[in-house]
Amino acid sequence: MADFWADVKQIAKEVVAPFQGLMTVTGKLAEQKTVISYPEFRRPMGVRARWRHVLNRYDNGMEKCIGCSLCAGACPANAILVVADENTEAARFSPGERYAVRYEINMIRCIYCGFCQEACPTGAVELKDQFELSEDNRSALIYTKEMLLVPDPNRERVD
Ligand code: SF4
Ligand code: SF4
Repeated sequence: MADFWADVKQIAKEVVAPFQGLMTVTGKLAEQKTVISYPEFRRPMGVRARWRHVLNRYDNGMEKCIGCSLCAGACPANAILVVADENTEAARFSPGERYAVRYEINMIRCIYCGFCQEACPTGAVELKDQFELSEDNRSALIYTKEMLLVPDPNRERVD
């Protein structure tokens, strides 16, 4: 007898289950939708979003990057190339002895782990919240120093 009632209970459960599903769907249909008209409007990204890199400057316009290559060493995807050179009094780019004469990130290899940012002793390389990174050719995804470096605030003021 106990088996009989267990079977009845099981059958009742299986008969009701699709209606419960339909009720869930109907309830969702009635909910107010959130529609964002992308790309005119963009949702703010989370504070820890890690997308496109930038190379930062100090307030006086000097480059923060000192060409130490710690970011390249920390990168698990071998995506960063740093070629350093000496600053001179006639041509000074960073406060340190050296600066990055060439700095490239291969964005095809990058996995956006942020290790480069963590490894950087000067806060030069930073991953920002810009996520629109698609290109129609691979060479455009090798980001050069010129592409990565933020504008010089002092030069902007002069212009
Ligand atoms: S985010 Fe990660 S994978 Fe991308 S360049 Fe930095 S260390 Fe390399
Ligand atoms: S970005 Fe930072 S870690 Fe990389 S070379 Fe420049 S100073 Fe060194």
